[in-house]
Amino acid sequence: MKIKEIKVQEIKIPLKRKFIIASGASEYSNNVLIKVITEEFVGYGESSPSLHVLGENAGTVQSIMPVLFEKIKNVDSNNIREISRILKKVPNNQSAKAGIDIALYDLLGKETNTALNKILGTSQISKETDITIGIMDNNEATVLAKEYVKEGFKALKIKVGTNLREDIERVNKIRDAVGNKIELRVDANQGYNYQEAKEFIKAIEKFDIAFIEQPLPYYALEKIAELRVWSNIPIMLDESLKSIRDLYEIIKMKAADMINIKLMKTSGITDALSISDLARAYDLKIMVGCMSETSLGIAAGMHFALAIEADYIDLDSHFNLQYDIAKNPIKNHMGENYVDTSKGLGIELKEEYL
Ligand code: MG
Repeated sequence: MKIKEIKVQEIKIPLKRKFIIASGASEYSNNVLIKVITEEFVGYGESSPSLHVLGENAGTVQSIMPVLFEKIKNVDSNNIREISRILKKVPNNQSAKAGIDIALYDLLGKETNTALNKILGTSQISKETDITIGIMDNNEATVLAKEYVKEGFKALKIKVGTNLREDIERVNKIRDAVGNKIELRVDANQGYNYQEAKEFIKAIEKFDIAFIEQPLPYYALEKIAELRVWSNIPIMLDESLKSIRDLYEIIKMKAADMINIKLMKTSGITDALSISDLARAYDLKIMVGCMSETSLGIAAGMHFALAIEADYIDLDSHFNLQYDIAKNPIKNHMGENYVDTSKGLGIELKEEYL
């Protein structure tokens, strides 16, 4: 059915716990709900913009939306690849486009009465996620790590990248506190230089770390490739990967063992599928991550991660929201996130967001 209208609704939800990473701090999740409307259905998507990674915020998402709508109005909403190609003519604005793309998949699911995981080719409904521990006082981080393990999480992602000594101590203390059965991942969010990254990796090797995410700035692929040859811990790239062209560069430079795909960086599910295919062809492991989404964006990430059989998932931002826009937020049981398989994304929004 033809796209008749796109409505936007800004959402600003306070976080339970202030979230600090090497590139900045946040107290709110400030997103834009995207409603793609046809004659009969409304598909819902979410844009969770990141100023540090993509140069977008809730204001830019809202101001570009009429421009994007103008290009796709009256196009059949089922022609998702066609729409993705049209939207590429507008540069950047990845999370704004992601909101539209996700809404189109939700629409398709509603029109065909099919859950998105099935549309994307899987009947899997759950997958284990890690939960992230931001940069904070190390004693506080250790207490939180133990709480998460008690709640059933089996993998923790520890944010580092601001202070080498404290970072090493944080990883050490958390490993001591949670024992050997819990998987630990670390993410420096571009916070180190080459020498610091080497020192950090050397110091934490003994703590059995699954991978280190984005140790150096996004553009430093040559240095990251050098580090990768030297490192005993696999290297995952996140901020360096925003498009299929970026992945091509990463592969050419042999700069990563693993990549972190986030729908907000890849303009949605359509391009994320191509990126995951290319990554698989070169034996790169894949994690599906998130920005600061509510259960709506997390549901999209989940359906996608299930479909591509992601090696890791880091779909946890909704756990840190004071409230969710969904009546049926994404559930987690013993560390596993579950999708609702009624139709589309499987998310029912509260009245005020319809
Ligand atoms: Mg990351």
